[in-house]
Amino acid sequence: ANQLAHRDVLTTCPYCGVGCGVKASLQGGELSSVEGDREHPANYGRLCVKGSALHETLGEHGRLTQPRVDGVEVSWEQALTTTAQRLKTLREQYGNHTIAGYLSGQLLTEDYYVANKLFKGFLGTPHLDTNSRLCMASAVVGYKRAFGADAVPCNYEDLEEAELIVLVGSNLAWNHPVLYQRIKVAKERNPLMRVVVIDPRVTDSCEIADLYLGIKPGSDAYLFNGLLVWMAQRRKLDTLYLERHTEGFEEALEVAHQTAGSIAEVAAVCDIDPERLETFYYWFASQLHVVTLYSQGVNQSSSGTDKCNAIINCHLAGGKIGLPGAGPFSITGQPNAMGGREVGGLANQLAAHMDYHTPGALDLVSRFWATDHLTPTLPDGPGYKAVELFEAIERGEVKALWVMATNPAVSLPDAARVRAALEKCPLVIVSECAAHTDLLPYADIVLPASGWSEKDGTVTNSERRISRQRGMLPPPGEARHDWWIICEVAKRLGFSEAFSYSHPWEIFDEHARLSGFENGCENGPENGVDNSSIPGSPQRLFDISGLIGLGLEGYNALTPIQWPVTSASPRGTARLFEDGIFATSNRRAKLLAVHPQGPEQELSAAYPLRLNTGRIRDQWHTMTRTARAPRLMNHRAEPFMDVHPDDALAAGVDDQGLAILSSVTGEYRARVRISNAQRRGEVFVPIHWTDCFTKQARSSALIAGIIDPLSGQPESKQGAAALMPL
Ligand code: SF4
Repeated sequence: ANQLAHRDVLTTCPYCGVGCGVKASLQGGELSSVEGDREHPANYGRLCVKGSALHETLGEHGRLTQPRVDGVEVSWEQALTTTAQRLKTLREQYGNHTIAGYLSGQLLTEDYYVANKLFKGFLGTPHLDTNSRLCMASAVVGYKRAFGADAVPCNYEDLEEAELIVLVGSNLAWNHPVLYQRIKVAKERNPLMRVVVIDPRVTDSCEIADLYLGIKPGSDAYLFNGLLVWMAQRRKLDTLYLERHTEGFEEALEVAHQTAGSIAEVAAVCDIDPERLETFYYWFASQLHVVTLYSQGVNQSSSGTDKCNAIINCHLAGGKIGLPGAGPFSITGQPNAMGGREVGGLANQLAAHMDYHTPGALDLVSRFWATDHLTPTLPDGPGYKAVELFEAIERGEVKALWVMATNPAVSLPDAARVRAALEKCPLVIVSECAAHTDLLPYADIVLPASGWSEKDGTVTNSERRISRQRGMLPPPGEARHDWWIICEVAKRLGFSEAFSYSHPWEIFDEHARLSGFENGCENGPENGVDNSSIPGSPQRLFDISGLIGLGLEGYNALTPIQWPVTSASPRGTARLFEDGIFATSNRRAKLLAVHPQGPEQELSAAYPLRLNTGRIRDQWHTMTRTARAPRLMNHRAEPFMDVHPDDALAAGVDDQGLAILSSVTGEYRARVRISNAQRRGEVFVPIHWTDCFTKQARSSALIAGIIDPLSGQPESKQGAAALMPL
């Protein structure tokens, strides 16, 4: 009778970084409908088309339901024992550093925490990275360089309180639709609010734009350096703020002068009409309440970190930060990219937002995890970032790879090279929900994982808000939760004591305890650290020690809350840096001297077109879920390429005709859509289609493995390609 009863469960959408609250309704043991959670502060009842189709993507069909070893279905006991044995053998034979993991912003924080603990803490390898590297790594480094911590200062309400919103490299209308809807409504309510869109393409986000700047791809840092110069020349700086709360302004301005000294110069480099450019500069400089939202168009570049800092420089120079409706706001792509950063899931991090070079971090984490008795103990330096990791596999340096909830055979640049590396790797373990992916043929061991609606845990959205994802349906067949799989392998590796959790709330509790361990307020003055005016700690801003001891009941009842959450801020922290005190060693924000650079993938006679890649409105990543909902396929039913009419004419391709795009790394074949929304000389392709749908149209085949040297993020938005009829 209970099974048949109607039941509503509050959970969170598993797609983009907006992190909308979802009310899921169950009837007869099935998830019959979803609607937006009216109480969730991310969306207040709204959902986009992807979120509203969540219940249509479920079901056992197409799911992995049984563990496999060497292509043969086995019991969990056999799969777990074999996984542990093979990892152990390779580790003993070749050393800790030959073991690697590759995680995903789709994992829940609890999964991420135990994976990080196992790899870095107990297997002693630093080579654990995540597909978040492809999404926001440049934004992370930008924040750390400027603020001393990977800390998003703003929240979603700031979007409604702003007088000016600047979208840079972000098609919010398609990729973060609920935030777009919130801005649209706020703009209707406040006719004085302005929106500027800076993007090479005329996207749907331009519908709410008061000003559109069709920027030349890759030239964003020139544009924001030019803004800094313009503000200085027009005396639009907040000199008091600069003096009291920042350092590095003079050098940043000097370099900006050298590279973007005049409107004419910037307009020429960025290929923007000078009058429109100056209008933007005037609007930005004259408003205090400005939010600059930036996303993959900024991050996915060989100089993405510098672009982020060029944006942050302008906010610091104008004192447009730490106020309602003001700040540089990086919008993450994935549902839990932020949660992965919090546990330390990037290869350059150790744990709990601490890097390897954070003073005392190795000792602190080692004592907390009680790994100090292990030989060798924690790795003492960063591991390989995503692209580097697969290069190390190719060289034979890494012998074992465990991939969880992601598909590097599709999503990493130069996919053919990644596939060749996987082919060579002696041990590939894949934890996965879907029965058919491009990665599975390379797996020696396949571990079926539970998915959305089945698993319990937490995620953190783009505004630092931690929300619960709640399980409500049983996983199909033999599928198990990721945290359970990781812990069971850890136990078979001999680490039973450290991985003996019985429920995700226990993992969350440990995560919260580590975040506050010997940190901030509890310790401060006694440690010679005056942190009294900073929520959390000047050393570690990420602190959720206020969530310790929730117990199962408290964890189940947890309502969305923004970190830091400490004894000093038990209700969370809506906005950071309101007091102008930052997490750097001298508590000042830093303006960086930014030397702008163009894309590294240069255009040539052989490859004359600038290649842009991105998402489409109704699909998510490699479509393992969204393709299951027929109505989501209606928007764009097949892969395509958007081409400017002049480029189509020059290449001899027709609208709706088939064409080939080629680059130094591969080819992409699809139908042409002639579009005036494209700049001349540029072509756009979607990222979603994989070999499971068509072997002809995988965008990653076209992208070279060029990365930002500071962040390791690939230059996925500025490739070089040639177009010809098929
Ligand atoms: Fe919200 Fe993003 Fe999910 Fe859409 S995809 S419902 S915007 S979290």
